[in-house]
Amino acid sequence: MHKFEVTAVTPRGYCQGVVRAIRIARETAAAYPDTPVHMLGMIVHNAHVVAACRELGILCLEDPARTRLELLEDIPSGVVIFTAHGVSDAVYERAREKSLIVVDATCPDVRKTHDLVREHCTHGDVIYIGKHRHPEAEGVAGISPRVHLIATAEEIDALPELHDILITNQTTLSILDTAVLAERAVQRFPDAVMAPEICNATTIRQKAILALKDTDVLIVVGDPHSNNSNQLRELGKKAGIHTAYLVEDCSQLYPEMFADCRHVAVTSGSSTPTGLTNQVIEVIRSYAETGIWNPPAEVSAAVL
Ligand code: SF4
Repeated sequence: MHKFEVTAVTPRGYCQGVVRAIRIARETAAAYPDTPVHMLGMIVHNAHVVAACRELGILCLEDPARTRLELLEDIPSGVVIFTAHGVSDAVYERAREKSLIVVDATCPDVRKTHDLVREHCTHGDVIYIGKHRHPEAEGVAGISPRVHLIATAEEIDALPELHDILITNQTTLSILDTAVLAERAVQRFPDAVMAPEICNATTIRQKAILALKDTDVLIVVGDPHSNNSNQLRELGKKAGIHTAYLVEDCSQLYPEMFADCRHVAVTSGSSTPTGLTNQVIEVIRSYAETGIWNPPAEVSAAVL
């Protein structure tokens, strides 16, 4: 029988910002039982969590082709919850104009970046390394026309002349990719000041992957829309792990993933429910020890 080692990477799973956003969503649903409650975007980028919110009576408005400001127009009245990713000032203002009850679940780490960028824009330009069409980047780019969102080296090269420059970034990016882009920005603008803003939760999850030894398969449990989950898989490949998979839950595992492997590591993005990750770990551990493939009939529903 083919046996292999399984490591549950720590830390993994929900970060403080996500735990807080989920608590706020639950409390809001309980506080407004007779009022429509809308979430502006996915509370976190995880379909299981969004479905659980729906069970609580919260309707998540999500359309990757539309901005938060555009989605807001679909809410006629009641409560709007802003997600952990944060929103631009224009969204706050429009929600006030529409007389909506605003509940803000913006992660304190994202708010810190907003404050930093807002202050700097009073006297200088900001180069913000982030993902186009990501809600967090949309929120920061909406602070001022002096914020220049860039996602590639080519976009840095194409920037106009800027003054009194601060270089900062989205909180959930890859520490490796961001360092490369930040270096390129400093080469182009040598007097720029750096303010790295990848959050602590993202940093320590990524460093735990880079520290893995003798691992040939990495399983990241996370939603395909989750930026930080995708980053963990990419980082695993860059760290030399032969095969790295992103799975939403144990229903996407199959035994061929572990053929001939010696050491499997399992982690999860900061938006992934703990119950889903634990099930994945149990399935793989059981297979590693017994050689019998025996996944549960149902995916864990304990996500909030
Ligand atoms: S990943 Fe970081 S920035 Fe995003 S919600 Fe979690 S702690 Fe906040």
